[in-house]
Amino acid sequence: MKVWFLGTGTSQGIPVIGSTHPVCLSNDVRDKRLRVSVWVHWEGHSYVIDCGPDFRQQMLTCGCTKIDGILYTHEHADHTNGLDDIRPFFFRQGDIPIYGHKRVIKNLKKRFDYIFESENKYPGAPSVIVNEVTENDVIKLGNINVIPIKVYHGDLEIFGYRMGDFAYFTDVKTIPEDEMHKLKDVKVLVVNALRIEPHRSHFNLEEAVAFINTVAPERAYITHISHLLGFHAEVQAQLPENIFLAYDNLEITI
Ligand SMILES: [Zn+2]
Repeated sequence: MKVWFLGTGTSQGIPVIGSTHPVCLSNDVRDKRLRVSVWVHWEGHSYVIDCGPDFRQQMLTCGCTKIDGILYTHEHADHTNGLDDIRPFFFRQGDIPIYGHKRVIKNLKKRFDYIFESENKYPGAPSVIVNEVTENDVIKLGNINVIPIKVYHGDLEIFGYRMGDFAYFTDVKTIPEDEMHKLKDVKVLVVNALRIEPHRSHFNLEEAVAFINTVAPERAYITHISHLLGFHAEVQAQLPENIFLAYDNLEITI
């Protein structure tokens, strides 16, 4: 299985428009972060987790030519605003499966009503196959079982996903104790860390590292990063040897 980090930034991306913060002005390509998403592919299967406003550019950059589905963590704009740009995949492949919490599906139906229209639909609009997911489901994607893991983004119930030896979380602040067993023996863990200072609805770096240490994977990668976390090179240098800051267009093999 390969995981391509399509975007590793928080909701505004880095650089933030108009910002003169030193990280926003950095020349290091690892300090340029599009909105968060990953492309997970194995043995001809191809999925993205989230589909934010940078989706089109991300698909062009990674060279993805087929998408078997989109797994949504939650409905916030930085994770969902790229849905219209599945059109090239839809034109070639037909209806694209989407997976998400029923609240997320409801939200998408409201914001992208034309995509879900059943009568007099505009011919250029894409279509999706809706799959509502609960934390008790196991989603079979190709030859892999995907396990949704219920976590909290502030007060909002959202999903992380385990796919075999790989688990992906973004926008997490708390994880219920009774969901932790789903992470047993996971080898590669991705989790969010927004910045150094605490935040109401996101792990800061310290909380992310503590969570990683509890799960104890072989390797962990940090994503959903704000410019306030600091320069990639400086933050990476302070991390334990099995914890890495992800960066855009990093591809890992699991
Ligand atoms: Zn987010």
